Amino acid sequence: MEYAIQTHELTRSFGSLIALNDLNLQVPQGTVFGVLGPNGAGKTTMIRLLLGLLRPTSGKAEVLGYDISTQSHQIRQYSSALLEHDGLYERTSAEHNLMFWGRACRMSSSEIRSRIQVVLELFGLYERRKDILGEWSRGMKRKLAVARALMNEPNLLFLDEPTSGLDPVSAAEMRQHLSDIVNQQGVTVFLNTHNLAEAEQLCQQIAVLSNGCLLACDTPENIRRSASSNEVLITGSDWPDMAMVQDIPGIISLTPHPNGHLQVTLEQGAVVAPLIKELVMAGASIEEVRRDTASLEQALLTLVEGKPNGA
Ligand code: ATP
Repeated sequence: MEYAIQTHELTRSFGSLIALNDLNLQVPQGTVFGVLGPNGAGKTTMIRLLLGLLRPTSGKAEVLGYDISTQSHQIRQYSSALLEHDGLYERTSAEHNLMFWGRACRMSSSEIRSRIQVVLELFGLYERRKDILGEWSRGMKRKLAVARALMNEPNLLFLDEPTSGLDPVSAAEMRQHLSDIVNQQGVTVFLNTHNLAEAEQLCQQIAVLSNGCLLACDTPENIRRSASSNEVLITGSDWPDMAMVQDIPGIISLTPHPNGHLQVTLEQGAVVAPLIKELVMAGASIEEVRRDTASLEQALLTLVEGKPNGA
């Protein structure tokens, strides 16, 4: 597998504060990789290190195969970033904003013209290209900022809260655009977000950071599963004598209820399948087996604060 980003024990301190601590990450190319974590977790510091805007205290990283300490110029040539502030010029038109940017990226005039059309059409803004930006809504400006980040056809896009402040419809449109860019053009998106629904919908992998430390890095599904409940509810009838199934490994308790449910508590990491098999063999009729999966929010709380599921 090709990686767009690889970090090796990447560390950055500010005085006695360790903002990023021994980070080891691998971001596969052509995917959306999300970074979640509370305020001050080190997410922005990580992006600034990866773009070569900050020097690591120790450790190293390669971005698109380039070393962050010695080849940041190449990294910025082939990647693009939309950080906290849009940095758009409000007193001029959308088109002029993109022209300035294209020139800053050392694109030729013909390249600039054709890319302006492509990126503005992508976000449905081409007809409004002559408008003065100060008259645009916040959502339109945010779209323009992402469009601008695509001007240089980056292989890697760093986005810090791209949908912050957008209404639900505009945010959904933005997410669709980002998915299209990844799926159709193979761009890698490195996404910092506090929006868990967005992370779950867009990201193939998520890293959870807290106090500069990596707590987890996995698919959203696996992160949720790791914090999921060990309680299983089985609906059915004709339950056998529970003494017959009590000894199956991984079962802590079995409680049949008069309403027809069987409440099962499993040991951490245990699976329910062997119990179901035994119950059926003992004559039970099973209608439904339900094991509650933690939401991403519950999983995040469990990881960051050590809170038990549902707390
Ligand atoms: P948020 O979600 O609030 O944007 P974050 O995860 O992006 O937070 P960072 O901005 O990376 O967090 O900050 C991580 C830690 O590093 C914080 O404690 C912050 O105060 C500290 N920090 C970041 N930049 C500097 C700096 N230039 N000088 C001193 N401390 C800094």
